[in-house]
Amino acid sequence: MSTEPGYSHSIPEAGHDDFEGLELQGKVAVFLYGGPSHIPGALRAHHSSTEERIKALRKAGAVGVVMLQNPKSEEMPWARVASSRFEPAMTFADPSLVEDQGLKVSAVFNSRHAEKLFAGARHSFKDVLAMADANRPLPRFELPSRLEARAEWKQAPVASSNVVGVLPGSDATLAKEYVVLTAHLDHIGVGVPVKGDAIYNGAMDNATGVAAVLEVARTLQALKPKRSVLFLLVTGEEKGLLGARYFAAKPTVPLSSIVANFNMDMFLPLFPLNHLLALGQEESSLVAPLQQVATAHGVTLVPDPAPNRMLFIRSDQYAFIRKGVPALSFKFSHAPGSPEERLMKAWHTRHYHAPSDDLRQPMDREAAAKFVRLLSDLTLAVANTPERPRWNDTSFFRRFASPLVEEARQREP
Ligand SMILES: [Zn+2]
Repeated sequence: MSTEPGYSHSIPEAGHDDFEGLELQGKVAVFLYGGPSHIPGALRAHHSSTEERIKALRKAGAVGVVMLQNPKSEEMPWARVASSRFEPAMTFADPSLVEDQGLKVSAVFNSRHAEKLFAGARHSFKDVLAMADANRPLPRFELPSRLEARAEWKQAPVASSNVVGVLPGSDATLAKEYVVLTAHLDHIGVGVPVKGDAIYNGAMDNATGVAAVLEVARTLQALKPKRSVLFLLVTGEEKGLLGARYFAAKPTVPLSSIVANFNMDMFLPLFPLNHLLALGQEESSLVAPLQQVATAHGVTLVPDPAPNRMLFIRSDQYAFIRKGVPALSFKFSHAPGSPEERLMKAWHTRHYHAPSDDLRQPMDREAAAKFVRLLSDLTLAVANTPERPRWNDTSFFRRFASPLVEEARQREP
């Protein structure tokens, strides 16, 4: 049994509920990845996270889910999406850490063949896409097609560590608080060969991020920041932000002492750094020091050009955001319609999660170095400002802030 509930979002804060009046008990929900543009990007992304989506689907009684991608927002060719099914999945050994269980079947369906699912239904997939592209509300309706699935898997334990280092702060009081820099150290490993190459190197994704964190660590030693800075290289990002989630659940310093998180995940130094996207910049006071530092480096901050790619939830900063820590995650960006935009698109098509993400691809090393200088200035600015960063009053994510932090905030004049 299957039903198409539009984007499959339940977002009371935005007055949007794709499940309202829909009978999903015992059914498989087929949905279009994305969301209506009147819902702010960060909120749309939060509700597109696996945890939030599964929570909503289970509440509605669904037993499975099939995701369709709008061909317009596809990041890589279908062949690579399809071969990623051979990559082993991973989860926590400790069930109390697992937040995304409860559905019997979960699948990504090739959009090129999506009309098969819609055979005999009230709308075709083409109709639904046209409505999505025109930003009209999506219809929700029963699909006559039926899904039969059988699953078989092998299970094996595996251990993988986060790596964490601390630069103690130079101010006796502020040193008890931490700015956390994160980058994931894992990639895909050995996978389906492409042109005879089975090694997925991950030079951009995410050796660049790890190198940036190490370089900031080196720079800051001489500058003696007042707050402590924690350098955290997390494992298992590609398997669902596992290392970051683990750290956020069992932090090595009190969670309430973490004032901010800056995350580096394939920031993509493909061309000179003139435009920077900082995911999360609309949500917290971190935008003020960021704006200052960006201006000093001649860099323009830009809004997210493609909110439906949901980058806000797709890397390690999201584990901190869910625990109430204001965070930013960085990407090189570009003016709309520019050659840089085409370069970035081509990079995703050719190299994203492909063996060719290696050292032979072109990289703008000077631009990468400039980004690292900017990041190091930003970290220093936040570490040295006595007032701790805070969520904007209007931010949806403020609700996750530590009660201790919120209490202290109430007491402020
Ligand atoms: Zn990746």
